[in-house]
Amino acid sequence: MNAPLPATLLKQHLIDPEICIRCNTCEETCPIDAITHDANNYVVNPDICNGCMACVPPCPTGSIDNWRVVAREHAYGVEAQFGWDALPAQEPVEALLAAAAAADVGTPAANATACVDAASGFAGALDADVPPGTMEAAVGNAGAQATAADVTPARGAIVPPWSAAHPYVNLYTHKDPVIATVVGNYRVTDDDAESDVRHIVLDFGESPFPVLEGQSIGILPPGVDARGRPHHARQYSVASPRDGERPGYNNLSLTVKRVVGGRDGNTHDGLCSNYLCDLERHDTVRVIGPFGSTFLMPGRPGANLLMICTGTGSAPMRAMTERCRRRIGGGENGTLMLFFGARTRRELPYFGPLMKLPRDFIDINLALSREPGQPRRYVQDLIVERADDVRALLNDDRTCIYVCGLKGMEAGVLDALRQVVVQAGQDWTVLHQALCRQGRLHFETY
Ligand code: NAP
Repeated sequence: MNAPLPATLLKQHLIDPEICIRCNTCEETCPIDAITHDANNYVVNPDICNGCMACVPPCPTGSIDNWRVVAREHAYGVEAQFGWDALPAQEPVEALLAAAAAADVGTPAANATACVDAASGFAGALDADVPPGTMEAAVGNAGAQATAADVTPARGAIVPPWSAAHPYVNLYTHKDPVIATVVGNYRVTDDDAESDVRHIVLDFGESPFPVLEGQSIGILPPGVDARGRPHHARQYSVASPRDGERPGYNNLSLTVKRVVGGRDGNTHDGLCSNYLCDLERHDTVRVIGPFGSTFLMPGRPGANLLMICTGTGSAPMRAMTERCRRRIGGGENGTLMLFFGARTRRELPYFGPLMKLPRDFIDINLALSREPGQPRRYVQDLIVERADDVRALLNDDRTCIYVCGLKGMEAGVLDALRQVVVQAGQDWTVLHQALCRQGRLHFETY
């Protein structure tokens, strides 16, 4: 049984810099802005964090689920955490408790054992640390066990669809990456388009690397940063289905846009995107992961997919679409509806193959924002234009909705879905909550 910590001790929430892939999910999720980052690390501010646990289930790697019992007055500050390469060891909790007890003779010695338990995982015993009411939202050490009802969703679900296959996660880490071999690197935007988007195929040979559509992997770029430390991993969504880019092969594909300084608001060239885009066949790459346990396809027969993406956010949509394409005729596919935003046709990744898909297999809606001679269209504009069909899908509990791409699209897409529902006199708040609770609405935006 766990007991409260003495008031002079704190169970401090920390992020493991060795596992974190800097995907920004925790910072986005935190409802009280307790998480921040610099060029080196994502950190939790002990002066703000209230232990509400909202950030724990969405973290793709589990790096968020780390705790240290510390003397409150010696809590690790934000600046100290920015400098870490690894988490500090847990100080002996018995000694901390003894010191706390000495300072407050009223503290029961029996707390020692209970609090040692608490230090090894987030198992309760925090009543003294957080405001009343917040701990009801806390989940066990395995954050993914949270139910959607546990944490108020800001935008999307923190649980997968009930019929999703079970994903493998974190099979390979920074300390023990797997080596993949490049077996293909193809440009998937027109040669004269400004965006250089690449379809990169990685083969894992004999090393197990099972993935599901919607999961991502981490790439460790070679070299060191300005401080002489290895570069952090960069995260990319898998663009191929679970049975491989080439069916039956132990390979997968990524969709990578070359980030060039002076374009798209970038001040310098992207370190990892340029590394990947320049790779040639037979080159090797260090890979970690897989990551992600919620942005997953439903497995039930007849499930509908409503997919909304911009640019390279099309990667997981390609994976899901290809999974369904390979089983056309098997009676398992429901309705597939795609909203895909790009600047022009020439800049739209996979435009050619996409347009060759049978019309009765997938309903494709292209939102082109800079097509000469045409008005600017965003995915959210088309969602509203197709309101009747979108509403029908939203109201079918076999439908799952996936949104991937630019961070900026999130608010617009949510508002478009709201409009579609409200137009018909329905209550969006109720439907939105149901979509989140049932693991049917998923976001992956950067
Ligand atoms: P992009 O070419 O910059 O933009 C794609 C389209 O989205 C353009 O038509 C753009 O219009 C439009 N757009 C801009 N702001 C929008 C908004 N607020 N609402 C709706 N549409 C909007 O896209 P990109 O450079 O490929 O970026 C894709 C994003 O996906 C990146 O942030 C990337 O990190 C993320 N992502 C990538 C992966 C991956 O595996 N590679 C996975 C997940 C997410 P205008 O520019 O004309 O305004």
